[in-house]
Amino acid sequence: QSQELSQVRIDYHAALQALVEDGTRMVCTGRMHTDRICHFESLCYSTEAEEFVFFHSNSSIMLPNLGSRRFQPALLDLSSVEDHNTQYFNFVELPAAALKFMPKPVFVPDVALIVNRFNPDNLMHVFHDDLLPIFYTMQQFPDLDLEARLFFMEGWGEGLHFELYRLLSNKQPLLREQLKTLGRLLCFTKSYVGLSKITTWYQYGFVQPQGPKANILVSGNEIRQFTKFMMEKLNVSLEGMPGEEYIIVFSRTINRLILNEAELLLALAQEFQMKTITVSIEDHTFSDIVRLISNASMLVSMHGAQLIMSLFLPRGATVVELFPYAINPEHYTPYKTLSILPGMDLQYIAWQNMEKENTVTFPDRPWDQGGIAHLDKAEQDRIIRSSEVPRHLCCRNPEWLFRVYQDTRINIASLIQTIRQTVKTKPGPKRQKWASGLYPGKVREARCQASVQGTSEAKLSVSWQIPWNLKYLKVREVKYEVWIQEQGENTYMPYILSHQNHTFSDNIKPFTNYLVWIRCIFNKNLLGPFADVLLCST
Ligand code: UDP
Repeated sequence: QSQELSQVRIDYHAALQALVEDGTRMVCTGRMHTDRICHFESLCYSTEAEEFVFFHSNSSIMLPNLGSRRFQPALLDLSSVEDHNTQYFNFVELPAAALKFMPKPVFVPDVALIVNRFNPDNLMHVFHDDLLPIFYTMQQFPDLDLEARLFFMEGWGEGLHFELYRLLSNKQPLLREQLKTLGRLLCFTKSYVGLSKITTWYQYGFVQPQGPKANILVSGNEIRQFTKFMMEKLNVSLEGMPGEEYIIVFSRTINRLILNEAELLLALAQEFQMKTITVSIEDHTFSDIVRLISNASMLVSMHGAQLIMSLFLPRGATVVELFPYAINPEHYTPYKTLSILPGMDLQYIAWQNMEKENTVTFPDRPWDQGGIAHLDKAEQDRIIRSSEVPRHLCCRNPEWLFRVYQDTRINIASLIQTIRQTVKTKPGPKRQKWASGLYPGKVREARCQASVQGTSEAKLSVSWQIPWNLKYLKVREVKYEVWIQEQGENTYMPYILSHQNHTFSDNIKPFTNYLVWIRCIFNKNLLGPFADVLLCST
């Protein structure tokens, strides 16, 4: 690696002079440390101090210029996990003149994306916290192209899935430890620091019990653009795949086992009249798993990180997540939330083992594999008697670990019945066309005309034109919603109409001002924006 960087021919003296004269220049997006990504020129890193360095000169820029608020609590989150206090980024400041007394800087010529991975040994975390956010951070800044280089600063080794991180750019990603071999003072010519959180859908329960993020901003479309990229990079093609439909049981081989897996395979094959195959991370290459999953009709698996592979399922496929005894499926929903993202078009089914005699516990294992022998006897007894793990915070709740690392004998009849409640005929890709889900524009040229009959009765005729985009779309059903509000009142009368004009007479008073709000609705649930409010006087 070190050779790779030093081979690049940059004019060292010009670069050094620019650094001394111009110093570091930073411009960030985002208003808070939790949504900030910063662009730097000449950001440096001291491998001895293990700190980033901002050099001040007459030409430096630091935007936002937060003063000491930069430490409250940090300039930005280096990982995609929100506001985690082990993942903060900051720098120390020095005058550029101090460079005279410092080790000779080594310049990094590649455009750099500097981030923390959150948990690189867990496949779910790899995709949700790192790969998707890195991919879309790179999409956000055009000079983060395939020639950019990733720098992982969290301090871990490569981890179990480094091959996946390598797919995101043509250059080998570098780890914090490796920077030492490059020099004592590294200066990144051009870099971006931080990760977009726009694609993440789950929070792990650091401040409140885990669950879907409050404001999910990603849809199945963006997920699939990402998986398409990954499949191309993995050289996975579906050519030569069997045409017949099949079910995958994604099994774990180390813990949280399905004890009657053979029986499960047979039952699924028989019930759905499909070939049923098992895969596991231990026994298959990543490319093989992706190839198989991307063409499957149904994916059945115990709750666990391997279920993140449902990212690669085709539209219309079914995800069946199995939960051990005392683990309430509603409380652990990273894979459910993924499956039901708008446009993901997966059917999600949860099944839980409700029978104590079908679970196998491991009280004597180490605590991080669910052992509880280290707890006092009363607490052990309470846990063993409990039939549901109460909601809890991440990440070391012993009752949760005890229950989630149980092995399970699946009650086949109960599971098949649960699946059948959702999958009536055959699971798998629907041949139907999927709703395109485009929203209407505003209605146009809204007008109203009033007429008064006598002193107590009046009518309001309102008309409008279709939204401009409708004439280019095939829409199953077009409706209009009209709200009529007497000026100064808080309430309004709502109407759903099929035509582009209507005469209102109920509750319309003479010599009164009305505000009329109109919007278009496609296919019952695609609500467009309201047009500018119309003021109508009777
Ligand atoms: N894992 C696996 N087989 C096993 C147990 C674990 O492939 O039998 C993988 C799992 O998919 C994850 C990692 O090992 O990527 C860590 O598993 P852990 O049980 O800690 O996390 P969880 O699956 O509960 O998120």
